[in-house]
Formats: sequence, structure tokens, C-alpha cells
Amino acid sequence: MNCVICKEGLYMDGLTTVVLTKGDSSIIIKGVPAQICDLCGEYTLDSATTELVMAMAKEAFDKGAEVEIRRFAA
Ligand SMILES: [Zn+2]
Repeated sequence: MNCVICKEGLYMDGLTTVVLTKGDSSIIIKGVPAQICDLCGEYTLDSATTELVMAMAKEAFDKGAEVEIRRFAA
């Protein structure tokens, strides 16, 4: 599949770092499996991964962490 952003790159399997922010809280999740554009670096997550990432983010936001750095664990 071609990249939706640059239209020329191709998505490759890889690991990325996802940063999510809500209000004053940020969570950085490292080592997230993603499809990453080989040209511009845009990435896309599959729905199962997105769910896990969102659950980790919610946990951090719920406890009011200012910045939390986590490693993705499936
Ligand atoms: Zn691209």
C-alpha cells in the first residue's frame, strides 16, 4: 500500500515511538509495531495495536502523569 501522506513511499514493517498528549499529560510509548513509510516516516498502526496504545495512554492520563515513558508490550 502506498503512503497516504506523500503518496510515493511504501509502508514497511518496523517499530516506532508513539507520543500522545491530553491536557498537561503526555505519554511516550516506544517500540510500537507499525507500518512505516520508507520515504516520509509517516506510520500507521493496526487496530489491535491502536487499542493497546490507547489503553496505555488512558492509564497514564487517568493517574495524571505529566510525562510517562513506556515500552510497548503486546
Ligand atoms: Zn510517505
